[in-house]
Order: sequence, then C-alpha cells, then structure tokens
Amino acid sequence: MSSVPSQFISSRDKKIGIIAGGQLGKLLCLSASNLDVEVSVMDGSENAPAKAVCQNFVLGNYANYEDVYRFGKTVDLLTLELEHVNIDALLKLKQEGLTIFPDPEILKTIQDKGLQKAFFKAKNLPSSSFQLVKNKAELEALIDKGIIDFPFVQKSRKGGYDGKGVALIKNRLQLSQAFDTASVIEQNVEIEKELSVILCRDQQKNIQYFEPVEMVFNADGNLVEKLISPAQISDEIKKQSIELSKQIMECFDLVGLLAVELFLTKQGTLLINEVAPRPHNSGHHTIEANLYSQYDLQMRAVLNLPLPQTKERSAAVMLNILGADQRQGHVEYKNIDKCIALQGVYFHIYGKKITKPFRKMGHITILDDQLENALEKADYIQKHLIVEAT
Ligand code: ADP
Repeated sequence: MSSVPSQFISSRDKKIGIIAGGQLGKLLCLSASNLDVEVSVMDGSENAPAKAVCQNFVLGNYANYEDVYRFGKTVDLLTLELEHVNIDALLKLKQEGLTIFPDPEILKTIQDKGLQKAFFKAKNLPSSSFQLVKNKAELEALIDKGIIDFPFVQKSRKGGYDGKGVALIKNRLQLSQAFDTASVIEQNVEIEKELSVILCRDQQKNIQYFEPVEMVFNADGNLVEKLISPAQISDEIKKQSIELSKQIMECFDLVGLLAVELFLTKQGTLLINEVAPRPHNSGHHTIEANLYSQYDLQMRAVLNLPLPQTKERSAAVMLNILGADQRQGHVEYKNIDKCIALQGVYFHIYGKKITKPFRKMGHITILDDQLENALEKADYIQKHLIVEAT
C-alpha cells in the first residue's frame, strides 16, 4: 500500500489529487489543510469553489479521458467529490500503480444507476423493483405489454444529480415528459421519510458512521432543501438503517466514505434509494455538529490513518442555500446580517458568482440543544434570506 500517511503530511513531495472542485471538494481541501497535506484539484471551471483553498488547481473535464489521465499522473493518491469521472482513465491509472479511493471498479457500478440497482438485487439488498430500458421506444413497448405500470419513476442511468435526470411519470399523458435515454424504471415508492446514513471504512476495514439524518425536499426543484439531525424516527428504524448501511459498505468492500440514501416507506420498511462513494450534501452538518466531520473521516481513510468515533455535539438543522426558481445572474445575498445574528448559526458560502434555479450556492448549519429551536431558526432563515440574481 503506497499511502503511508507521513509521506503526505507536511511534505511538499507528495500530493493528493481531488477530482472536481465544487463545494464538497472545497470542504475536503479544508480538512486536508488541517493536516498540512498538499492538494491538487481538477475542475472544469476557473471559478470552482475549491480553487481558493487548494495549493494546485488544474483546469480539466472530469468526463474526459485525457484530462483525468494527465491529472492522475501529477499526483500520488487520487480521490473524488463526484461519481461521473471517466472510468477508463481511472482504470488505466490504477493499472499503472496509482492508489485511488474509491476503487474505480466500485465507482463503475455506482456511477450507472442501472448497474447499481442490479448490484443491490444480486446482493439481496432491499431496493424498489425496477426494469432497465435502452430508450423511450423500449419503455413504451414495455408499457404496452403491461410489463411496466403507471405511476413509475424514470432515472437516466448516467449523469443525473440533484434530481436532474429523474422524472415521476404518473400516466400515459405524462409520457411526453419521459427521457429518451438508457434508463432505470422504478416502482414509485410511497415515501414516509427520506433518510441518509454516512459511513466511512478505513484500510483495515473498520467502520465508523454518523447517526441517520432526515432529508426534506424542495418539491419544485426535487432536491434536498433541509436536513434534520438526528432523524425523527424510532430507535428500531435507526438501528435497522445503520445495520443496512454497514451491510452495503461491506458488500462494496469500499475504503472511504459512503453516503446511503434510504426511503422509509409508509409501510414502515427501509429501501435503498442510491449510494454515493464520496462526501455528501447530507453530511455538511457534521462540520459543526459532530466531533469529526465527514471530510475529516475521508482524509483519514485515504491517508491510512485510524478513524475516530464521530459522536454528535448537538442537534442540528442544515439548510441548502438554493438559487431562486427562474432567476439567473450575478448572485447577491439579502438579509445575511439578520440571519447570521441568530445564535448557533454557521454560514458556508461556496463562492459561486452566478446563481441559477436551485443551484446549491451555500449551506447553513444551525445548532441548538433543542431540535425544535433549531427548526424555528431554520424557518426564520428560510423566510428572510434572499438569493437575488442581478
Ligand atoms: P439524484 O441522484 O438526482 O439525487 P435520486 O435517485 O436520489 O436522484 O432521486 C431524486 C428524488 O426523487 C429522491 O430523493 C426521491 O424524492 C425521488 N425518488 C427517487 N426514486 C424514487 C422512487 N422509486 N419512488 C418514489 N420517489 C423516488
């Protein structure tokens, strides 16, 4: 194993590469900086949030073979903040001896929602029933044959994020909204709550986890707007969701972070929605609300350092600061002063200069001994903080 930690800490000879420099990459860089580890980031935008906090920034497209391969050749260890990275380049780099977390073979399964669902099925892990279709014509043929029934959820196999590439098709009239891409067609689950469990596994296969959190969605944008920690669920569901998440981690034999998104159904059962082998939006609150953050754990796992217990300091609510619907332009935040004046409120503005509908511009973590108080402060902020496009 080439990742001996001391070679990376306070060393100018060895560096970690992070593919993509969005908010997750930026926060990962900040954890690396606490250990004085040199980080290179590759991202497709000169304005990437991580650019301000990494030592080396490389402009490049994570989906492009040449860009990923060339970047990989300049670092001693590679990790990533999103799934959609060119797999062939990662496999070539691995073959040539580069240490990569997560392993490219695992990433290959996870970055394709069809392969991911097939993996859950093969491992007997609970997830909604599904069909794979190559295109819209095949989808229509399976509907005509009665193999697929309305309502269903269509998901593009590759490239989707934050609800993009996901459509609920309720009836034949809505079929015009279906995508003409290779897709997973899932049974429409009756969801009581959406939960997330973040775990981390070290190179000796020890697992640490964060308590399950509850994700509240913005109905218009179909992405997470608010996160509640701890999730308001029974101890039994809490226990089951942690056990199930550990089981998934073992099945993938992963090193590093795994975010497990779960549906608690109206019938009281748990189904896996999807997993992400990287830091996740549902773990932002861990920076302030836990003894160690998800970013700290990822750095320790990739550097072959022991993982600590994560233990909560406080109840927390996390709000994503989202771009307003139908507004695009230079961003201006209104009423930050009023909101930041509340006790226990931590702002993280990512530095994206342009706001777009539902773009994640930043997040706010609100700590309070009493969850109800944190929720009240979150309501106040949601009413007063305005993301203006000028
Ligand atoms: P993304 O990867 O873009 O976040 P997801 O697969 O998590 O996409 O789907 C986005 C959201 O769509 C989910 O959080 C959930 O609210 C809804 N959804 C996804 N799959 C189903 C399903 N099978 N049944 C009902 N709702 C679903």
